[in-house]
Amino acid sequence: MPFIDLEENLRELEAQGLLRSRRILESAQGAHVTVDGQAYLAFCSNDYLGLAAHPALVDAACQGAVQYGVGAGASHLIIGHTAAHHQLETELAQFLQQDAALLFSTGYMANLGIVSALMGRNDLVLADKLNHASLNDAAQLSRARLVRYNHLDLGHLERSLATASERKKLVVTDAVFSMDGDIAPLPALLALCERYDAYLLVDDAHGFGVLGEQGRGILEHFGVDSPRLIYMATLGKAAGVFGAFVAGNASLIQTLMQGARTYIYTTAFPPLLAVALRASLRLFREEAWRREHLRELIADLKHYLRTECWQLLPSETPIQPLLVGGNKEAVALSDALRSRGILVPVIRPPTVPKGQARLRISLSAAHSKDDVRKLAETLNALAAER
Ligand SMILES: *Cc1c(COP(=O)(O)O)cnc(C)c1O
Repeated sequence: MPFIDLEENLRELEAQGLLRSRRILESAQGAHVTVDGQAYLAFCSNDYLGLAAHPALVDAACQGAVQYGVGAGASHLIIGHTAAHHQLETELAQFLQQDAALLFSTGYMANLGIVSALMGRNDLVLADKLNHASLNDAAQLSRARLVRYNHLDLGHLERSLATASERKKLVVTDAVFSMDGDIAPLPALLALCERYDAYLLVDDAHGFGVLGEQGRGILEHFGVDSPRLIYMATLGKAAGVFGAFVAGNASLIQTLMQGARTYIYTTAFPPLLAVALRASLRLFREEAWRREHLRELIADLKHYLRTECWQLLPSETPIQPLLVGGNKEAVALSDALRSRGILVPVIRPPTVPKGQARLRISLSAAHSKDDVRKLAETLNALAAER
């Protein structure tokens, strides 16, 4: 029988409580969604500013479709690079106070493209152990030697840098760790990179739009910049649309445009999305209250949740993980919330280390204070029942 081994593997996954399944979203993304025919209060998305269904973005996308049609029709280097993409790149570079920016179709592809274009067989990539999977895959694709240092362990990183024989070195880190919500100490990482002559790639997927007064992400949060910094962020999270970009000095951007295979050998993303993204950048500026409201919601969750019953990981970002431990216990808690009309996703190994299954509560400016209070009170009631 063909595929019998696959079936065995699937049964094994199921037995371990690791089999994933998809729910069907029938509404727009937002705080209140319809899933599989039911209305829920949801804390699942990365739409941190609540822009994914914002009318200004919807309008911009429609106008973009009228002007450019739906498909880009070609890669950027052939004829898919529209004025909308080009203006978006210029605006991203200005916003981040960098020389230039380059759009990629997804964050996953950006990371693969950046690391494999810059690094090769005789080079060294040093990566935080809790980095996003795309950064690890990127390092493997580059064929550089990969050292994964313990999460935020700068001593471990420094020893690896100090003993490296490779001339070309790249440190890669999430800015905000996607399953923990903690923030990488960018100034200290940059200082090490300067000391040992390494580049630093920072993946700000969860910080861009969220951190800093103006939403310029981790760069603004720490007020740092450096010529050895390679900044990338995604556009499908706080920016509410789709895509990703890298920003930095002109020769870096030119090198990636010439050499990043996930840039060259793929269709440009639809120009209407670039038009929508220009509207997002405008809203970062014009609706700064969204970041302020988000900060209040984060404080409210910590205030209302009974911390003697529930352990939130230390995080000042909208990613507020509730540590449970076992896979089945985490699934049971998520199920209990769901039966009370609240969706919070379970994150299990291998996305997080074994024994650290958790609910990943993700807050958004689309939530009201009542929404967050309801989540905390429902969790408190469930703790009392245990
Ligand atoms: C989501 C994410 C990515 C991937 O971005 P996509 O645009 O969804 O492909 C990369 N890095 C981190 C840290 C992420 O959270």
